[in-house]
Amino acid sequence: MEKNIWKRMILLILLALILSISYQFFVAGSRFHLKAGNSHVMAEGSGAENAEIPGGGSSAPESSGVPADGGASQPKYIAITFDDGPKQGTTDVLLDGLKERGVKATFFIIGQQVEGNEEIIRQMAEDGHLVGNHTFNHVNLAKLSSTDGAKELAECFGELQSLTGQEDCLVRPPYGEVSDTLKKNIDCPIVLWSVDTRDWTGKSAGDIADYIVATAKTGDIILLHDIYKDSVQGALMAIDTMQKNGYTFVTVTELFEKNGISMESGKVYRKTY
Ligand SMILES: [Zn+2]
Repeated sequence: MEKNIWKRMILLILLALILSISYQFFVAGSRFHLKAGNSHVMAEGSGAENAEIPGGGSSAPESSGVPADGGASQPKYIAITFDDGPKQGTTDVLLDGLKERGVKATFFIIGQQVEGNEEIIRQMAEDGHLVGNHTFNHVNLAKLSSTDGAKELAECFGELQSLTGQEDCLVRPPYGEVSDTLKKNIDCPIVLWSVDTRDWTGKSAGDIADYIVATAKTGDIILLHDIYKDSVQGALMAIDTMQKNGYTFVTVTELFEKNGISMESGKVYRKTY
């Protein structure tokens, strides 16, 4: 009888020992997994993904996969566009400023302005900007016959393509005037804008910059004219502030690509949202 009690006690002690050892292994295993998981998240957060967001990159998610700042570290893409150039003394200054800041822009060129400015246009393409068509004579396409409109666009496109080699064709109709006939006959996407700086009214650089910073948001297309000194300075000032606020400036084509929208001929585009 006494022997049985001892046997049972030894068995109980052994069982307790086995349970205790198993538990230690289980806890150690969990810790290992947790550590491995965290180091994986940190590697992603501090790597290439964040490196392409100007001014950002410090808000790596913890372990939930949801950024702690509620998505503010997501890329904020926006497009800045310049019409009516190129012009010596303003467009070349702008190109230097854009290059310094790593900004890609879209230029809508008037065919008449090409002669004498060939180098500037080549430079645009070389710097990764998109060169678009603003007709040869800055005409209202909505008031032209389809034949005359096509001629205006073809003449300008021919000049630009021979300089840049760019196949992408984008048209910005002067005055933003679009007709049903134009939409039906044109072979390119039509790009208008969602943020109008009205820089041609003689605004100061400071006013232009303030307006852009206060109004422009992700997915917008900003309209400026690179033939005014104040527009160039205002654009660069706005870019400096917006880059600090996490914005990335891309060409119009890139803006739509990044939003999964494929641009079609004859359709009008103002923004991505
Ligand atoms: Zn224009």
